Amino acid sequence: MINQETALSQKTELLCKGLYLDNSLIPQYKEQGINIDFGRKGGAGPSGGRYFLLEEGSSLVNVALWNTPNNRELFLKDYKNGYFEVFNEKNKESFGRLKLIQNPRFYSPNFKTSDGIPMKKIALVHGIDCLASTIYQKCVYWGCGEACTFCGIEVSLQNDATILEKNAKQMSEVITMAKKEGRCSHMTLTSGTDETVDKGANRYVKLLKGVKSDHPDIPIHVQIEALEDLIYINKLKEAGADTIGIHIEVLDNTLRKEITPGKFSISYNLFEKNWKHAIDTFGKNQVSSYVLTGFGESKGEFIKDIEKVISLGVIPYITPVRPIPGKRYLPNTNFEDLLDIYKDSGKLMRVYGVNPLENKAGCVRCGGCSAIKEAYIEAK
Ligand code: SF4
Repeated sequence: MINQETALSQKTELLCKGLYLDNSLIPQYKEQGINIDFGRKGGAGPSGGRYFLLEEGSSLVNVALWNTPNNRELFLKDYKNGYFEVFNEKNKESFGRLKLIQNPRFYSPNFKTSDGIPMKKIALVHGIDCLASTIYQKCVYWGCGEACTFCGIEVSLQNDATILEKNAKQMSEVITMAKKEGRCSHMTLTSGTDETVDKGANRYVKLLKGVKSDHPDIPIHVQIEALEDLIYINKLKEAGADTIGIHIEVLDNTLRKEITPGKFSISYNLFEKNWKHAIDTFGKNQVSSYVLTGFGESKGEFIKDIEKVISLGVIPYITPVRPIPGKRYLPNTNFEDLLDIYKDSGKLMRVYGVNPLENKAGCVRCGGCSAIKEAYIEAK
């Protein structure tokens, strides 16, 4: 059994490096009753991952699975007694053991909504029990060639893995099925940005009202970019959203322009205004922001910027960038640097009284893509 410090370190390393999966092992695992593949290729959250639990049993991690030569460090090896052995090829030593989270049964094409859409095209289970869906699969920035360089939102549409827009009835039906399997205790909803002044908030409002009347017990997280008109934040809360992510993605201003060219038109000050208003509306520990690392930013500057975010009461959902296959190549984020960043952020959250363990729904509660919760626990 591993301790909390090792869990934080192993999770950070897995987030940064991913795992090498040898194609030839896939049929062998299948014979042992384990279906493993290279995960999804687009959509919400970093793509291409599968979910594993670390050996201590509570840390969940969304791990990229690779079969490319530049990711041959941590190898998925034998499957024994419910765990995969992981071997570090560089150091020639065992890394540890991981438990694969199996996909839910409703991913089978036999499960369809009442209007005939395969349920897997409506929502996916992230981790153990977070049902996640991109409610609108297009984004204004893709249309004008200013998409964020790490984003795969329209890739899943091109791959026919999903549909353009989901409605409340379809979503409720999938929630019912996921609940039956014990795979939905909370939800993450995300969306591409709309051209309209509400930036997509009105789509969420419509969907939230329907879903919440069918499933009032499921806390829901919504993700949106900073708005000029803050009233939409209130509308999201009134419609039933429980937590909100207002994602800046990149903190360094020069890098922001390069990595998120469309979103760069929104000033940092507007993000601050939105975060503050969202905390007043949604309450303490219910507001987060995805912050990506691994673009070559300075660690010291990054921590200073993170402190600003935390000091406002926002949970920084720090995650290493994962390149989308076929898009801009990015080297793996340096794992030691990210570990330092997590440790500092954990301490800063303690100093400013920000507690990610109290977040009610969505990415922060799921925790698969960031070690921010482990860092908070470790900082005690
Ligand atoms: S944190 Fe969880 S819910 Fe959010 S994108 Fe990652 S896996 Fe999905």
